[in-house]
Amino acid sequence: MSPNLATLCYLVSGALFILALRGLSSPESARRGNVFGMAGMAVAVATTLLLTGIADGFTAVLLAVGAVAGGAFGAVVARRIPMTAMPQLVAAFHSLVGLAAVLVAAAALYSPQAFGIGAVDAASGAVALRTSSLVEMSLGVAIGAVTFSGSVVAFTKLQGLVSGAPLVFPMQHALNAALGAVLAALMAWFILTAEPAAFWMVTALALALGVLLIVPIGGADMPVVISMLNSYSGWAAAGIGFTLENIALIITGALVGASGAILSYIMCRGMNRSFFNVILGGFGADDGGGETKSADARPVKQGSAEDAAFLMKNAASVIIVPGYGMAVAQAQHALAEMAQALKKNGVNVSYAIHPVAGRMPGHMNVLLAEADVPYDEVFELEDINSRFAQSDIAFVIGANDVTNPAAKSDPASPIYGMPVLDVEKAGSVLFVKRSLGAGYAGIANELFHRENTMMLFSDAKKMVEGIVKAL
Ligand code: NDP
Repeated sequence: MSPNLATLCYLVSGALFILALRGLSSPESARRGNVFGMAGMAVAVATTLLLTGIADGFTAVLLAVGAVAGGAFGAVVARRIPMTAMPQLVAAFHSLVGLAAVLVAAAALYSPQAFGIGAVDAASGAVALRTSSLVEMSLGVAIGAVTFSGSVVAFTKLQGLVSGAPLVFPMQHALNAALGAVLAALMAWFILTAEPAAFWMVTALALALGVLLIVPIGGADMPVVISMLNSYSGWAAAGIGFTLENIALIITGALVGASGAILSYIMCRGMNRSFFNVILGGFGADDGGGETKSADARPVKQGSAEDAAFLMKNAASVIIVPGYGMAVAQAQHALAEMAQALKKNGVNVSYAIHPVAGRMPGHMNVLLAEADVPYDEVFELEDINSRFAQSDIAFVIGANDVTNPAAKSDPASPIYGMPVLDVEKAGSVLFVKRSLGAGYAGIANELFHRENTMMLFSDAKKMVEGIVKAL
C-alpha cells in the first residue's frame, strides 16, 4: 500500500472514531457509535498491516495468535462482566494501553531501524536517534508507565482486592513532587544520551509514581481517576504515534486524551469538586457509606410496598430517580415493569438522571437501557428539575446524595454547590433504601425526615417487586 493511500485510510479511521465518540454521547446512538468505532479500528489495523507488510511466516503466525487470543479474551470478558464491575474492567483495559506504550517505546529504542527513526551502529552498538523521537519516546514511556501502574492500583481497589480506603502518609505530596522532578531530570538525560539505562530508570520511576499517585485516592473517587487515566493513556499513545510517525495513533491518542480530560472535568463539575482535589486524594476517606452522620432525632414516616403502590396508582405523574442502590440491587428490570404497570393505569412516568448518579458516568442510563426503558422517558437533571414541582410523586430508588438539599442550603456540607434533583418539590417523595444510612458522600439527608417523605426500607429489587405485585 502506498503511503499516501495509507494516510487517506488513517484519516477515514480517524473520522470513524470521531463518529464513534459522537454516537456514544447518547444511549440511543451508542450502539451505532460502537459500530463506527469497530469499523475505524478494523480500517486502522488493516491499513497498518498493508502499509508495513508482514515480514515473514513467523510474524504472520504471531499476529494471528495475538489477534485470536486477544479477541476471544475480550469477547468473553465483555459478555461476562456485570454492569457494576464496568469501572474496574475499564481500569484493566487502560493498564494494557499504558503497557503497550512502554513496550512499543522499548522496541523503538532497541530497533529504531525497524521503525525508520534511526540506526544502531554495527561496530559500537551505539544508537543514533533523532532528538525529536527521543522526546516523544520519553514522554510516551513515562506517561505509559504511570498509566499502567496507576490503572493496576485502581483495578485492585475497585475489584476489592485491596482496601478502597485512601492510603495517606505525611509529606506525600512533597514526595510525589520530588519524584516528579527526578523523573523530568531522567527524561532529560535520556533525551540527551539515548542511554538505555536512562530509559529503564524513567520507566521504573514512572511505574512507582503511578502507584504513589493513585494510593491516596479513595475507592469511590476512582471513576474520576479512571477517566483521567483514560486521558493519560491517550496522550501516551499519541506520543508513541509521533515516534512511529503513525497518523492513526496520533489521531486516536489525541481523541482519547481529550475526551478523557473532558469527561473527568464533567464528572468533577457534577460532584462540585475541583479536579485537583480529586487527583490529590483524600475525599473518598468518608467512603464508608451506611452510617448517618447526623443526630437528627425527628421521626420518619415508613411505608410498605402496598402503600407505595396505592399512592402511585392514584397519581397523575411519577418521576423516578434511580441511584447507586438500584445498580447494587439490580432492580432496573423490576423497575421497568413497575413503570409499565403504572402507565397502564394512566400514570405519566419519567426518569430523572443526575450526571453522577451511581458510580460511573452514564451508569443509570446504561442500566435503564438494559431494561428497555424508552429513551424518551429518560431526562437529564437540567431538563427535568423544573418538573418536580408539578409532579405528584418522586420515587427515589437507591439514590441519596443526588437528592440532598444540603447541597443547596448548607455551605458547610461537603456537597454544597453540587447540582441536585429537586425531589422535595414533588407532592410526595418515596425513598427506597435499606436504612437511614448515608450515601457516598457520607452525609445525612434531612429529606428522610420531611412531612411529605415516606421511607420504603428494603432492598430496592425486593421493594419494587412488591410494588409490582400490589399494583
Ligand atoms: P449514593 O451513594 O448517594 O446513595 C446510594 C444509596 O443507595 C445509599 O444511601 C444506600 O442506602 C442505598 N443502597 C445501597 N444498596 C442498596 C440496595 N441493595 N437496595 C436499596 N438501596 C440501596 O448514590 P447516588 O446515586 O445518589 O449518588 C452517587 C454518589 O456517588 C454521589 O455522591 C457522587 O458524587 C458519587 N460518585 C459518582 C460518580 C459517577 O460518575 N457517577 C463517580 C464517583 C462518585 P442504604 O445503605 O440505606 O440502603
